[in-house]
Amino acid sequence: MIRRFESVQKRANSLFVFIAIIGAALAGFIYTNATHIQDDSRTLVEVQLPALDDLQVIDSELTELERILYEYYATQNRRLYNEDYTQTLSRLESAIYQFKPATPDKQLLLVLELNLADIVAMSKSLDVNLNGPTNWDLAREQMAEISTKRRNILPVLNQAKTLINEYVEQGYLEANTNLDIAIYVVAAYSLFITLLIFAFARYVRKYIMLGFMNERLALFAKRNPNPIISIDYDLTISYQNPATDILLTELKLSSALELLSGSLSRQLKSARENTANHPYQSKVKGRTFSYLINWLDDIQAFDIHLTEVTAEKEAQLQLEYIAYHHDISELYNGVKFQADLSELTSRQKHFWLMLIELPDYGDVMADYGLTGASDMVFHVARELKSVFELSKQTLSLNSNIYHVADASFAIIFNTAHHQNNLLDKVSYELSQHFKQAIKTANGKQLIPLKIGITEYPNVAKNESELMLQAKIALDNATEQARPIRYYSTELGDKHARLVQLNNQLKTAIEKNQLALYYQPQFSLTQDQFNGAEALIRWKTETGFISPAEFIPIAENSGMILELGHWIIKTAFTQVAIWQDSMEPGSRIAVNISPRQFIQPGFVNEIRAMLEQTGARAHRIELEITEGTIMENETYGVDVLNQLKALGLAIAIDDFGTGYSSLSYLRHFPVDKLKIDQSFIKSLERNKADQAIVLTLCQLGKNVNLKVIAEGVESREQLALLRGFDCDEIQGYFYSKPLTVEEFEYFIAQSYV
Ligand code: C2E
Ligand code: MG
Ligand code: MG
Repeated sequence: MIRRFESVQKRANSLFVFIAIIGAALAGFIYTNATHIQDDSRTLVEVQLPALDDLQVIDSELTELERILYEYYATQNRRLYNEDYTQTLSRLESAIYQFKPATPDKQLLLVLELNLADIVAMSKSLDVNLNGPTNWDLAREQMAEISTKRRNILPVLNQAKTLINEYVEQGYLEANTNLDIAIYVVAAYSLFITLLIFAFARYVRKYIMLGFMNERLALFAKRNPNPIISIDYDLTISYQNPATDILLTELKLSSALELLSGSLSRQLKSARENTANHPYQSKVKGRTFSYLINWLDDIQAFDIHLTEVTAEKEAQLQLEYIAYHHDISELYNGVKFQADLSELTSRQKHFWLMLIELPDYGDVMADYGLTGASDMVFHVARELKSVFELSKQTLSLNSNIYHVADASFAIIFNTAHHQNNLLDKVSYELSQHFKQAIKTANGKQLIPLKIGITEYPNVAKNESELMLQAKIALDNATEQARPIRYYSTELGDKHARLVQLNNQLKTAIEKNQLALYYQPQFSLTQDQFNGAEALIRWKTETGFISPAEFIPIAENSGMILELGHWIIKTAFTQVAIWQDSMEPGSRIAVNISPRQFIQPGFVNEIRAMLEQTGARAHRIELEITEGTIMENETYGVDVLNQLKALGLAIAIDDFGTGYSSLSYLRHFPVDKLKIDQSFIKSLERNKADQAIVLTLCQLGKNVNLKVIAEGVESREQLALLRGFDCDEIQGYFYSKPLTVEEFEYFIAQSYV
């Protein structure tokens, strides 16, 4: 910048000196020339031209003097002579005196003066002669002498005149030449000046325009509402516009450099090397600025244009906040969770993943609607957060909590493998905290949690495994007994088997792999077989798969509806075949899964199937678990009533394992209680079981329900049950579940 300025200044100075020298030289030349002309003219006008007049005067005065002398000679009038002579002589001498300086030749002047002196001397002699006794001859001679002298003067005067004329001519010519030169020079100078002025005018015009442009440019920066700073490479500020000053005052800063980021030097370097020309950001006293750095190579400086982007930044943060936070809980959301998971897995960082779910969410949704459920989630999130934050603080954990879906939360613990005890502490704190009811808009609610945990990268190898494993662990957690579950390979294998079974089950019906077996039921009161329970069997290429294993899978996946439909159809078809030969009061029991039961249109399905198969309702008993009805009591009782209205009998299966609340039995339209086989298994040894079974049998009697014990395998069990006044028996003691043919054979045999 300085180098360029110096070179421009040098050039400007040289130009100025050049023009000044030419101007001075021309002025000097014109002055000298003009002085010459002036001198010549002055000499001409003041000396030589008057000298010609003087010569004329001298000539005429000499003639006059001669005439006066002749007149005196002729008249002898001395008085007149004295007067005229003196005056004329005086004029003559005065003319000679004036002529003296202009005399072209001193010799001529001398001749003139000598002859005049002779004339004067002769005049005096003549006067003396005429004034006394006059000697006329002498007088004539004197007069002749005077005339001669005067004539002598004439050539001198002429010569002088000629010389002066020559001088005048020469002077005139000289003056003319000088004048011409002066005119040429002045003309040339004028031309030069004109050209110079023209060039100068162009330059001035350009300068004015440039000035105007510069002013505009200067104003552009000056009036710009955004701060503009110009800095040199050594970080000295060479300019900052008024907007910068205002901002500095506003922010109480002393230097514009404080408005820029800490890594300014590096940014300047890359701007200069042109490696990057993107905006940088700085944050000053809570306000955000974006700035562009331009390297101006011609002036070797940086131009920095700042714009305040606080509002944009806030809006961006707000958007980011919305994008990364759950709208109900304001915790990090699923998007942020996925982003963090990807981040950690891409860096192969060790961490634990804890998945938390609220198993009651669906129920709350059913009972209180979406608003009620959302409110519960909001309160749960708040409690979770407070417990989490406290644990995080006390255990110095590096972790984050996320609200990943409606009723699912996740915590990522960036802790080492051996620190799982910290996780145990947090999950223990959480489960303990939620053992107490929490306040929600629906009142105080006990909200159980289920927690599934896995670990990266030791256990889960990638993102999808992580989520799957945490979910498997969570699904295997039980609300009451074991709400916290770590993922294990056993759980993984179990899950894989579930998935495999589910896939196989989808094609089981088409492949004809399913069949219904019938387990006979014996009536102690009638002392004969009075029915059977239909139990599904699935025979695959690798053998039988227990319904205890695949029914819950079908229940979970929804396959149970299709499967259930097949079971009802098959059982009812079989009933239609058997019904006419069945003993009075005999029934075929069909198991109904909870999902089937609560499915809208279930009653219609039963009705349609009765019509379609021709099975009579009084030959059919539906087995439903108590939980199925208790899920939604009103709805359950309504369905039961409709089924009863069709003429079907209802048995409560696995009685004693679920709610075990006997008070409802009175209000439920059911016909039979099936005491769960877990009470029968050790009946002969277990006094407590004996007490329970006895109570159940008596209770059944009290509320007019039949009681059947299932899983009866031994004579001792049978004897005890008979003693308890149990109505019916089902179990291996009599028979295992049988195929249709086996069952028909079995019944035929029993009547033999
Ligand atoms: P559940 O309805 O309680 O069926 C009784 C289970 O006890 C049957 O097991 C039966 O084979 C078994 N069992 C009967 N007597 C004895 C005995 O003396 N000793 C022992 N150890 N077991 C005995 P299974 O067939 O394996 O069925 C298991 C469960 O699967 C059933 O329990 C039922 O909940 C479900 N299930 C079976 N078939 C169906 C079906 O067709 N539909 C539906 N929804 N569920 C079914
Ligand atoms: Mg059953
Ligand atoms: Mg049962």
